[in-house]
Amino acid sequence: MHHNSTLVRARIERFIEERVRPALYRDTVALEVRAWEVPDEPVPFTDAVGQDFEAFSTGQTWGKPWGTTWFHVTGTVPAAWADLIDDGFDGRVELVVDLGFLSGQPGFQAEGLVFNPDGRILKAIEPFNHYVPLTAGPGETIDLFIEAASNPDVGSDWNYRPTPVGDQATAGTEPIYRLRRIDVGLLDRAVWELDRDLWTLTGLVDELSPALPRHAEILRALENVVDGMDPDHISATAAQGRALLATVLAQPAYASAHRVIAVGHAHIDSAWLWPLRETIRKCARTFSNVLDLMDQDPDFVFACSSAQQYAWMKEHYPDVFERIRVRALEGRFVPVGGMWVESDTNMPGGEALARQLLAGKTFFMREFGIEPLEVWLPDSFGYTGALPQIVTAAGSRYFLTQKTSWNETNLMPHHTFSWEGIDGSRVFTHFPPVDTYNSVLSGAELARAERQYSEKGSSNLSLVPFGYGNGGGGPTREMLAAAGRLQSLEGSPTVELASPLAFFEEAESDYPNPPVWSGELYLEFHRGTYTSQAKTKAGNRRSEHLLREAELWAATAAVRAGAGYPHERLAEAWQTVLLLQFHDILPGSSIAWVHQQAEASYAALAGELEALIADAIGALNDPSDAGEPVGFNASPFAVSGVPPLAAGPVVSGGSVTADATDGGFVLRNGVISVTIDARGLITSLLSEVTGREAVPAGQPGNLLQLFRDTPTQWDAWDLDDHYQRSGTDLVDVESVELVESAGDRAAVRVVRRFGTSTIEQVLSLQGNASAVDIVSTVDWHERQKLLKLAFPLDVHADRAASEIQFGHIHRPTHSNTSWDAARFETCAHRWVHVGEPGFGVTVANDSTYGHDITRKADPNGGTFTLVRQSLLRAPVFPDPTADQGRHVLRTSVKIGEDILDAADEGYRLNLPLRIVEGAAAVEPLVVSSTPSIVIESVKLAEDRSGDLVVRLYEARGARASGRVIVDAGVDRIVETDLLERELADPPALAAVDGATAELRLRPFQIVTLRVALA
Ligand SMILES: [Zn+2]
Repeated sequence: MHHNSTLVRARIERFIEERVRPALYRDTVALEVRAWEVPDEPVPFTDAVGQDFEAFSTGQTWGKPWGTTWFHVTGTVPAAWADLIDDGFDGRVELVVDLGFLSGQPGFQAEGLVFNPDGRILKAIEPFNHYVPLTAGPGETIDLFIEAASNPDVGSDWNYRPTPVGDQATAGTEPIYRLRRIDVGLLDRAVWELDRDLWTLTGLVDELSPALPRHAEILRALENVVDGMDPDHISATAAQGRALLATVLAQPAYASAHRVIAVGHAHIDSAWLWPLRETIRKCARTFSNVLDLMDQDPDFVFACSSAQQYAWMKEHYPDVFERIRVRALEGRFVPVGGMWVESDTNMPGGEALARQLLAGKTFFMREFGIEPLEVWLPDSFGYTGALPQIVTAAGSRYFLTQKTSWNETNLMPHHTFSWEGIDGSRVFTHFPPVDTYNSVLSGAELARAERQYSEKGSSNLSLVPFGYGNGGGGPTREMLAAAGRLQSLEGSPTVELASPLAFFEEAESDYPNPPVWSGELYLEFHRGTYTSQAKTKAGNRRSEHLLREAELWAATAAVRAGAGYPHERLAEAWQTVLLLQFHDILPGSSIAWVHQQAEASYAALAGELEALIADAIGALNDPSDAGEPVGFNASPFAVSGVPPLAAGPVVSGGSVTADATDGGFVLRNGVISVTIDARGLITSLLSEVTGREAVPAGQPGNLLQLFRDTPTQWDAWDLDDHYQRSGTDLVDVESVELVESAGDRAAVRVVRRFGTSTIEQVLSLQGNASAVDIVSTVDWHERQKLLKLAFPLDVHADRAASEIQFGHIHRPTHSNTSWDAARFETCAHRWVHVGEPGFGVTVANDSTYGHDITRKADPNGGTFTLVRQSLLRAPVFPDPTADQGRHVLRTSVKIGEDILDAADEGYRLNLPLRIVEGAAAVEPLVVSSTPSIVIESVKLAEDRSGDLVVRLYEARGARASGRVIVDAGVDRIVETDLLERELADPPALAAVDGATAELRLRPFQIVTLRVALA
């Protein structure tokens, strides 16, 4: 037999494109269109409907960037279509709209939402989803409104060039779309079904080995369709065409075919290349599509994460929310994940990550009576080793992501496995081998899932999230048609529609002893996200600590002084912080608009939280008792003589001396001495107690280094290893002067200029402190540069400890393996610590996350350790003005062997004493007897019962036992999960004696105590 499959395949493709697709609508008729452009920000339907609409015609341009145009669409369904339908033609009347869609991705461009004249939402209009089903029959009138959003395509082919469109102020005002059609159409259902048959089979045949008989059989059947149908009468011969495919479509799947559970999904980024307000509309559009599809297909299940997105619907689109509620109760619109948003997990603090789950799950349980048991983070940029315990402590059991498939260097070995966190908690985890969260259920995607699934032989089941995502859109009827055809089709994985929970339960029982991955799921990509948009990061860090203070003092005031606890205001403040931890906001990868708004939100939040703190301190203060200034210490460690979580007189630290030497200065306080040379560099950091020097000879610290930062792609996201091949030491100095030298503090100011930027650093030493403090004020005007602050340390260490949520993680300082080498930039919270037995150094920060910690050959023999903080970047995409302006960044370097020295330092730098004039001392409400049992949160219970909730963790990475004592009348103390639900079998609470809880903690264990007050 002669073979010509390539030609046959091309002929089939042309037949589909030129004959079948144009015949999808038996007839279309243009409708009358009038338009009203909203002058400013979007308005609700009720405001739009009464406006003065002007005549508008197809071909006209519309829509400035980020604008909104309402189209009023009227007309009549052609009466002549009645004859066709009477003759048995299987058709459906639809609105067909092309807003002038771009060829690129859905969700990154124009979209519309269609309303009835009474304001009821019907469905959205999107790229690749142009229709709305109509109930009007032949001869009946059509009257609809379309709210069309002229969102610009910020990504624009992903060339990463700077673009002005991400900021409303610079986006321009010229229209960017041209209306192509607003028609009423009669869908030819037979042609549509034929088109779906062809799409599924061409997708499958392209993945099959040409050596298989199945390949030839499908190809032959497809060719028979082209031969058997009349190209000039597609509608009339569509049924014939379908009959020719019936046999190949009826062949069942191989017995060993991979099994796919397909979950309808729309990964809607809560902000990214569009502002937050647009996400609210994106959710309304996508969910309307989903609700419409649910009306058409009873098997369709849709999973949606992010309580925030549901909360937006409840507030802005209550009708959509009520329709969601109905489908949620049916188990079809499935709340998944249980977090407030799909947050970043590298940077949020421990308490914040706990609150993501607390706030998210509480919302779903309150609104729907549903507790999601999965954590669903398909797209976040790497996953902290603290997450398994946080997931477990929140009562959840499963974890899903696919982002690790983006790794540049190493392939993760498992797709279904048990993920073990730093404390030993394990969570059943799945990485969909389809490697996308936006599947369209194509043959290529399903074949990829089967081909890549690494657990084959032990497990044969994977999950495929399908639906247009990122900017929304969601599943389409075409995807559901594919799922139907793929239930059992020879050569393809089988496809079944179900919920994520159904998948996880089956996958777990199917694979009871999966392999284990221990530690963080580091993403070998997007390493710049620990540093980009430093003001957003500083806002997050400050807000987390202000929230800690506000809750601590408000709870203390409630118990001690009977003050009202501001439940509502704290919940709102938390929701703002949780939202801004979304995986494109806190990582700094959004447009300028988003980051400007984030900075404004953080500023407003600081005002609000300061007011709450002032109220609480005011309630605690007895004016008759007023004496000396007191310090309010929210740290779990004593600060300047003030006990943890208490307020009291500040103890002076003792004197500090400053001596000039060789153009520089030596600062001494009897604990350490710091030598700052004429270049403003630290040439010595000496323990005056032990005589041990922390700075290697000839390798000064406080060294600012400027690197070229031109990533190969994904500018705001990526820091590429090639940055290391450039680099300038900023040693030129404008001035080094002693600015403070009296009493218990001495300070040296160092000023440098470089490029178009300036840096002023104040290096200071306080009495009795074992740390030197460095405040860097940077007026930053560089572009595509990375600024690091380097501290070579005379420590021989093969690993470094970095603080993460509720503990720390050790990472190697070498690059022995490709896995080690790929971790050339890592995330740490408040501190990193390197040590040898008997000696250690902490480098702490107040808003920096990016670090690199490496070993260097010491010319004098051996190695020293180089710790560098990544202070600032200046990526030019998607925000061309990212990071420009003034930044204040605090750093400290402290000598101390124990990891608790580091923990103490991290809190000190982030929770400075709050000095209040004339206040009374306040005894701590809660005391931990053991330094390594660290109190992370003190608050009142979410259920507003007045119970006290205390969250603590073991911070050293060792077993600990101790007591937690509540200084109040106590009725009962129980151990709970993160959702404040009592645990029947308390893992850490060994005994309770009145107001004292006896605890036994495993390394890094998180414990939540709930205290009913007498
Ligand atoms: Zn995303």
